[in-house]
Amino acid sequence: MKLYLAGLSSGYEPEHVARLFWPALQLVKEYPAHGQDAIVLHKSGNCVLCAVRWEKEITARRFSLTDGADKKQEEYEICHELFCMLRQRTGKQPPWGMLTGVRPVRLVRNLYARGMSEEQAAQHLQNDCFVSEEKLRLATRIEKLQRPVLAQVEPRSFSLYISIPFCPSRCSYCSFVSRTTGESAKLIEPYVTHLCAELRDIAALVQKLHLKLESIYIGGGTPTAISAQQLRTLMNTVKECFDLSSVREYTVEAGRPDCTTPEKLAVLKELGATRISINPQTLSDEVLRAIGRRHTAQDVLDCFDTARKLGHNNINMDLIAGLPLDTVDGFKKSLKGVMTLGPENITVHTLTLKRASTLVEDHAPDRYGDVVQMLSACACLDQAGYEPYYMYRQKGTLQNLENTGYTKPGFAGLYNIYIMEEVHTILSAGAGGSTKLVAPCGHIKRIFNHKYPLEYLRCYDVVQQRKQGIEDFYGQYVDMDPQTSR
Ligand code: SF4
Repeated sequence: MKLYLAGLSSGYEPEHVARLFWPALQLVKEYPAHGQDAIVLHKSGNCVLCAVRWEKEITARRFSLTDGADKKQEEYEICHELFCMLRQRTGKQPPWGMLTGVRPVRLVRNLYARGMSEEQAAQHLQNDCFVSEEKLRLATRIEKLQRPVLAQVEPRSFSLYISIPFCPSRCSYCSFVSRTTGESAKLIEPYVTHLCAELRDIAALVQKLHLKLESIYIGGGTPTAISAQQLRTLMNTVKECFDLSSVREYTVEAGRPDCTTPEKLAVLKELGATRISINPQTLSDEVLRAIGRRHTAQDVLDCFDTARKLGHNNINMDLIAGLPLDTVDGFKKSLKGVMTLGPENITVHTLTLKRASTLVEDHAPDRYGDVVQMLSACACLDQAGYEPYYMYRQKGTLQNLENTGYTKPGFAGLYNIYIMEEVHTILSAGAGGSTKLVAPCGHIKRIFNHKYPLEYLRCYDVVQQRKQGIEDFYGQYVDMDPQTSR
């Protein structure tokens, strides 16, 4: 399917609405040739032509935009018209309706902040945006659960993200910059050295700016892909440089059992990790093989057991719905298997297909029914005492579904909420790290580190220069300083 846009001030939203129906849609600059499957959106003055040619049939409608509508309203009216036409033509009912954004929970919160009651917001999302009842319930439930967590966030607080972009092997669906430990063995030691230097620089800035550390997240890649000694060096640096007295959560993504040894799990516990992730993705050995994992489901169970014996009492486990070769029954079996272990958090991702991964995009259409049913199966988490606490969507996710974190009461992963709801600053260290500075007014500035480990090592001086932007940012917002705002 092709999409031709003309005369619109921005084509971003209409393009993504059309992608809800044809994920591999192609944006074209020339008017589509006669007989081609295509969508045409043409605005001229106050009038818009919306037309679709598909399966040899043309549907077209001309409509006028509301007089005096601003750009946002105009965009909404065009997307609304387009969505209704495509829904009627294809018979598809995207569960999130015409919402294309990655943060539906924040959208709910914004509607309340704009003065809508819970009922009015629900009506708007269902009637005007066509969100299904199931997804509406999910988003509003999460918004409620997050309220007390967000109320505790202080103006000058921040979270620290530390990136370890190495993995034992590459998963077929992965689009992350991670390098395998085999091909990058020589890089790891200097990487850890530079990472520790960057952490020391960040710590000095944090002290100067009177920032308060609220959560730490060591992620990847697979942080436990580095040696126990390297983990020790890294976590000791964190301990020495930062004031950890205000830290409410310290997560390390142990990630994969094929490199998470008892020795490493003991280091994590000893040096202060309060939450770890052990991510099976599936408990089917066949599916694990299909995605390029070099471990079995039994390895996951053993790793979990060892972690518990070593005192890890807050564990997250990730599952992915829609993996190649997986079935609805297979997914349900994995979910049951994980629930039997009783981790404090279970995060259910929907497979996302990105160009940088080795899975082909054409995989998507076959999975429609499967993935919807897999996510619906997660209703059983409720009966087992888990509640959804954070959620986000990504471009390229099968059927535009979502990723949801479930928690046992009192164990909601704080960092996940902070980063998704963009409520405070995240300072990032390491390759692929992205620092997100959040001002009290909601203004956000991003500073990116180099993506790949080798670039990060070679251009470390640039990394240091960019960090100057943190000080400049906080300099603009004197009201964030407890001393000057008194
Ligand atoms: S473990 Fe995660 S980061 Fe590493 S290759 Fe697999 S999906 Fe990518």
